[in-house]
Amino acid sequence: MVDCIFCRIVDGDLPSRTVYEDDSALAFLDANPLAPGHTLVVPKAHHERLDDLPDDLAADLLAVLYDLVPAVERAVDADAITVGFNDGAAAGQEVPHVHGHVVPRFEGDGGGP
Ligand code: 5GP
Ligand code: ZN
Repeated sequence: MVDCIFCRIVDGDLPSRTVYEDDSALAFLDANPLAPGHTLVVPKAHHERLDDLPDDLAADLLAVLYDLVPAVERAVDADAITVGFNDGAAAGQEVPHVHGHVVPRFEGDGGGP
């Protein structure tokens, strides 16, 4: 068993604000948001890196992202969305469970990668 924050959220052992859930994926609000509505999407199964994801889970995750991006944008009346994956520690991945960031963007916010 790995001790993983996002697995604990998936299992309901840690509280989170669920944005979307299906059989293979969970989306929830980031605890330290870069902007209002900053959402994380994770496969429910524990995989550390994108390259570890089986093809079907990768496809599911992308399909969820496609729906989540416009939904989050509308929900917080954002102007745009930045989607990002920190894939590996050197890229800034702090939680070793694949997760995509959906970050609402606002005209002139000056943020972004
Ligand atoms: P990373 O740097 O690994 O790409 O991003 C990890 C993200 O997870 C960060 O944006 C951080 O705020 C978020 N995070 C870390 N721990 C928790 C938690 O317990 N709950 C939630 N909702 N987000 C978390
Ligand atoms: Zn995990």
